[in-house]
Amino acid sequence: MTDLKLDLPPAFIRSVSRLLDGETERFLHSYEEPRSYGLRINRLKVAEGHPMEAKLVSQFGLQPVPWCPDGYRYEEATRPGRHVYHAAGLYYIQEPSAMIAAELLDPQPGETVLDLAAAPGGKTTQLAALMRGKGLLVANEIHPARAKILSENVERLGITNAVVTQASPQELSARFPEAFDRVLLDAPCSGEGMFRKDPDAVREWSPEAVEACAARQRDILPHAASMVKPGGKLLYSTCTFNTLENEETIADFLSRFPEFRLHREERMWPHLGQGEGHYAALLIKDGGGASQTPHSEPGRRGSSPPRKTKGGKTPESSSFPSYVAFAEESLPGFTLPAYGQPLVFGDALYWLPVPPGSPITPDSLRGLKVPRPGLHLGDLRTGGRFEPNHALAIAVPVYAARLSEDFAADSPEAAAYWHGETLPAPQGAKGWGLAAVDGFPLGWVKASDGQYKNRLPKGLRSLYVN
Ligand code: SAM
Repeated sequence: MTDLKLDLPPAFIRSVSRLLDGETERFLHSYEEPRSYGLRINRLKVAEGHPMEAKLVSQFGLQPVPWCPDGYRYEEATRPGRHVYHAAGLYYIQEPSAMIAAELLDPQPGETVLDLAAAPGGKTTQLAALMRGKGLLVANEIHPARAKILSENVERLGITNAVVTQASPQELSARFPEAFDRVLLDAPCSGEGMFRKDPDAVREWSPEAVEACAARQRDILPHAASMVKPGGKLLYSTCTFNTLENEETIADFLSRFPEFRLHREERMWPHLGQGEGHYAALLIKDGGGASQTPHSEPGRRGSSPPRKTKGGKTPESSSFPSYVAFAEESLPGFTLPAYGQPLVFGDALYWLPVPPGSPITPDSLRGLKVPRPGLHLGDLRTGGRFEPNHALAIAVPVYAARLSEDFAADSPEAAAYWHGETLPAPQGAKGWGLAAVDGFPLGWVKASDGQYKNRLPKGLRSLYVN
């Protein structure tokens, strides 16, 4: 760590000293300390007070993060990211200071929310947890490889009401003007606040890089702003310290867009709290009064009547009835999220979240790259056979399944499942079921002839150690 302090560019130290008001030494000393590690418990899976929360706290020695009720710090050696609970989506590994942005934006269940620069998904998964599975969350990422990682994280956390898009801010703002109650722009930045976490960021830093980032942020921010409904909220955040990318970018924006006002601004410093560096500004757009979107939705069994998807296959003529038959047989305790509609992409069947007033419809997505248009229910195979997708296994509670096998996290069976092995099943067991760990689904099995065939996607096997 001492090396990192010595590596800091003098121009960076001069720039940050101007903000520190006599605390530069204390700030610099933080580079001799280990970086912070954090995780956020996924409330879509582990409700407050659930015994699993106490288990996670004791197993990983978790310490609360003061600014995020679901956030905890941990020591590096406990490695929760390598545990099978991570695969089950019980938490998301997230640096503590980064948790401030979604907390300030405070999305409500039932709203329409956009995360414009979302990969790998820390803030998306936090927004989704705060929305409690209700409403619409659009998570967008411009870079294809990063959009794939974002989509995988949305799947792992069992999020049912998110649409993952891969578009530029320009493409999205042209399609969705004034469409969202809340928009988060976690902007690409020079990463000064991540120097302890990512020492490469130190080598990439230069005053010119800071200026280039600020110019890019000033390009993106108006697109984010134009997608906020009148009366809606915009959260701008970075993981950098300099004012050019933070306060000055916001001041420049407010001078050009007077319909916004600054409501709150927070800076997170590594020498003042137990986290890395972050900046967040909450802006409110004039007009509109309170959000037009209902904050609660009726509970509903079953699903919306399938609607036609213009120009494409109707769900009725394709895989939705196969899904319904599958769910009646294998997932009798599961109800599709309220306000959605089936959406067919080739052989794949999704449940597209469509809350009242949703800007997202099948037509609105036409021509856009959409790695995940909602909850991936499954795929229609040859002969009309329906095969459920891994995303569905991870999104449902274990008790929803007619057939399930629950393993202790440290059992040989859980390890065997993770290695893709076949497991013994009770005689007579037949059909699709869930393999779970300590009550939380890990993936599908298919029972026949006294065996559970392992249906965990090959790419996920052996990723975890118990
Ligand atoms: N919000 C994410 C999270 O919490 O996990 C982190 C987002 S990261 C700070 C910024 C993202 O902006 C990166 O994923 C990057 O690929 C994306 N990005 C880069 N250039 C962009 C651009 N011109 N427009 C929009 N996004 C861009």
